[in-house]
Amino acid sequence: MDPAERKRKVVEKILNEGRVKRHKFLPSGREIWSVVGTLGDQFVAEGQPFCTCGHFHFGVLGGKAASCIHLDAVRVAKRDRSFETLDIEDADYGRFLFLLTRSIHAQFGSK
Ligand SMILES: [Zn+2]
Repeated sequence: MDPAERKRKVVEKILNEGRVKRHKFLPSGREIWSVVGTLGDQFVAEGQPFCTCGHFHFGVLGGKAASCIHLDAVRVAKRDRSFETLDIEDADYGRFLFLLTRSIHAQFGSK
């Protein structure tokens, strides 16, 4: 299987398993996207583009890769309208960020 085909299959699997999440904040209507990856949650800002995974930081920002699997998954999920929407109150933004960043932090095995 060539790399592009393998990547397509991984994106398909992420979508089928409902791992692309749109966190919709209310009443502001602001949206934060995340993807549950193999290591844990990733914060993904497709418009930037930005992702919190190690591959994005070292590979994409280092000029070795064009994108990461999470960014690809969000792009395809938006195109196919294949994602899970979770409503969150604006008042819970702090707690949401805490849990998301804790999950991201844990992936890097730092103390
Ligand atoms: Zn990523």
